[in-house]
Amino acid sequence: MNASQTAAKVRLGQLKAEDLTKDCINRIKEGNAKINAFLEIFEQSALAQARAIDAKDPSQRGKLAGVCVAIKDNILYKGHTASCASKMLENYKAPYNAFVVERLLAEDAIIIGRTNMDEFAMGSSNENSAFGPVKNPLDLERVPGGSSGGSAAAVAAGMITMALGSDTGGSIRQPAAFCGIYGMKPTYGSVSRYGLVAFASSADQIGPLTADLQDNALLLEVLSGHDPKDSTSSQRPAFKMAELETKGLTVGIPSDFLENLNLEIRSCLDKAKEVLSDKGINFKEISLPYAKYSSPCYYILTSSEASSNLARFDGLRYGYKDESAGDLEDSYLKDRAKFGPEVKRRIMLGTFSLGSAHAEDYYLKAQKVRALIANDFAEAFKQVDAILMPATPNTAFKLGEKTEDLISLYLSDLYTAPANIAGLPALSFPYGKDAKGLPVGLQLYGNYFEEAKLYALAALLEK
Ligand code: GLN
Repeated sequence: MNASQTAAKVRLGQLKAEDLTKDCINRIKEGNAKINAFLEIFEQSALAQARAIDAKDPSQRGKLAGVCVAIKDNILYKGHTASCASKMLENYKAPYNAFVVERLLAEDAIIIGRTNMDEFAMGSSNENSAFGPVKNPLDLERVPGGSSGGSAAAVAAGMITMALGSDTGGSIRQPAAFCGIYGMKPTYGSVSRYGLVAFASSADQIGPLTADLQDNALLLEVLSGHDPKDSTSSQRPAFKMAELETKGLTVGIPSDFLENLNLEIRSCLDKAKEVLSDKGINFKEISLPYAKYSSPCYYILTSSEASSNLARFDGLRYGYKDESAGDLEDSYLKDRAKFGPEVKRRIMLGTFSLGSAHAEDYYLKAQKVRALIANDFAEAFKQVDAILMPATPNTAFKLGEKTEDLISLYLSDLYTAPANIAGLPALSFPYGKDAKGLPVGLQLYGNYFEEAKLYALAALLEK
């Protein structure tokens, strides 16, 4: 059963939220020792929530009644720990609910626990968690992708049907691709960032990871909508899935951006193109000349923003406090030492790029490149309704395989980061397998607020 079927049965009184929640808790307990997808199960609050839903008049039960949803560990749920998989916030308890958590609660979803991630959402393999890596449930020697690897692995392992992730450069879509599930990075501004621990505010977006395509759209409906507490939140009406006529839509293939594409992924892409053509979709070659600069542009901009955002974790305002520290400098040294190596690297890179001696060459240059990349897409969307490309340059790699090769790890975001740079929606969906039997993820980009088109096109490719 997918989530919408489960919720329908709870609304009809045919299933009890409490039974569903207990089953889910058992599944997580059984599977988690192997894959480390969950950092905590919110057992008590989840069961209390379930009982309250069962006590409600069935007609009053929400869209996600009784459906267990996991949240990434950088999303605040009042009274619960939100650690960002960091020693810095190991004991931090959320003082309020994120907007998306309020939305889940309002629709009677059960918030079942918090999922493992790369520390502060920085990573592409989930090996940067302070609480141990997550393993890919499809092959335990491989990474699930990152940084929302815990959310993706929990869904792929069948522990849950839905989870929230956050995506700053690909952290929903890349793990979705590595684990063979669906992941949507919505248009920037369509889902509130209130209560999401900031990594790079101009790129961060929360979005759904699900086993089922229709569920993905359903969860996005619940999450999106205007929030006055997020100054970048769009005033437009919330996303609503609609029946769409896909015949006659035009999909672009960015040939210049796909020059060195891995052949196995290329063959899945060609197959998808063939199937879509048979279903009445037109194809057009397009050019995205600046998209190939997305990785360097992304790493300069997001590290710069992170160096500023993470300044608040100084032991005084937020984060770990070493009581033995003497003066202020000693306290910064001891408290900020709690960050892991990747987070420190980004803070240093960002501080360097923003410094007055270098800002012109790095931060400001990257801002200009950002505008050029966004312009590539603006030109493309004058000609096409959506763009088809891979989600990732490779399928899931082995744990430890890229830890010494940062550049190759950073290039994992090649096809995903442009969406965050331009603020566009992009959907990653499983399509085919490589020779090792690992899932291949493809991706559809859309114009601003055109998520519905992406879901409709992906539905044509569903098995
Ligand atoms: N892999 C990218 C990074 O390491 C993306 C992270 C993200 O989207 N949160 O920054």
